[in-house]
Amino acid sequence: MPPLDILAIAAHRDDAEQTCGGTLLKMAERGHRTAILDLTRGEMGTRGAVEERAREADEAARILTVSWRRALDIPDGHVENSYNNRIKVARVIRELRSRVLILPYWQARHPDHAAASALGYEAAFLAGLAKLGETAATAGIVTSDIEALRRLPPHRPYKIVYASLYADVRPTFVVDISEQFEARFAALMAYRSQYQDQQEGSSVFPRQAEIRERVAAMASFYGLLAGVRYAEPFVQKEVGLVDDLVAIPVQSI
Ligand SMILES: [Zn+2]
Repeated sequence: MPPLDILAIAAHRDDAEQTCGGTLLKMAERGHRTAILDLTRGEMGTRGAVEERAREADEAARILTVSWRRALDIPDGHVENSYNNRIKVARVIRELRSRVLILPYWQARHPDHAAASALGYEAAFLAGLAKLGETAATAGIVTSDIEALRRLPPHRPYKIVYASLYADVRPTFVVDISEQFEARFAALMAYRSQYQDQQEGSSVFPRQAEIRERVAAMASFYGLLAGVRYAEPFVQKEVGLVDDLVAIPVQSI
C-alpha cells in the first residue's frame, strides 16, 4: 500500500467526523490520501449494535473519501494509554506511514478522548524506535503485532496536530471547511443508529435539526475567528514558521 498523507486517530466512531471530517475531506480533494483509525468499536453506545456502527462508519468514510479506515478492539469506555495499546497503534502508524497525524486534544471531558490523545502521541514516538519489535516481544505482546513491527520499518509522523473542537481552548489555526460543511454533516448523519430521529433514548439524543444547528454553530464560531463561514479548529504545540509576512492570512483590523 502506498503511504498515507494524513491519519486521524479517534477514540470513538464518529469522533473524527465531528472534529476533523471537513478537513479530511478537503485534504482528500487536494489529492492527499487520508485515513481514520477508530480505537474502539462502540459497544458501549446506548444505540446501535457494533456491526451496524461498523457499516455506518464505512458509509461515513465513503462520504469523506477517506482511503483507509479501521477500528481497533480497545474496549469502549476503557481507552487506556497502556503498553499493549501503544503497540497496537504503533503497528498501524508503521503500516500507514502518514506524514501528518491528527489526534484528539489532550484535555477532554470524556476520559477516552484524553487517553486517546496521550496514547496516539506515545505510539507515534514508539513507532520510530528501530528495536520496538524486540522490546515488545519481551513484554509479552500479541505475536501478530510483534511480527508486523519486525517486518515494518520505523516511522514517525512529521507533524502532529490536535483536533480541539470538543475542548474549550483557543485554536492555533483553523481549516476553512465552508465548501465541505454539507458533506461533513452528511457523514455524521450516516450514523443513523446514533442520530436518526427516534423514540429510544430520545432524552439523551437531540433531534437531527438540533444537531445540525449545534454543528453549524460550532463551525460558524470557528469560521468567524478567521473570517470564513465554517471552519474546524486545531492546536499545534510547535510555533508557526513564516516566510512571507505579506502572505499571512486572516485580517487583523
Ligand atoms: Zn468520542
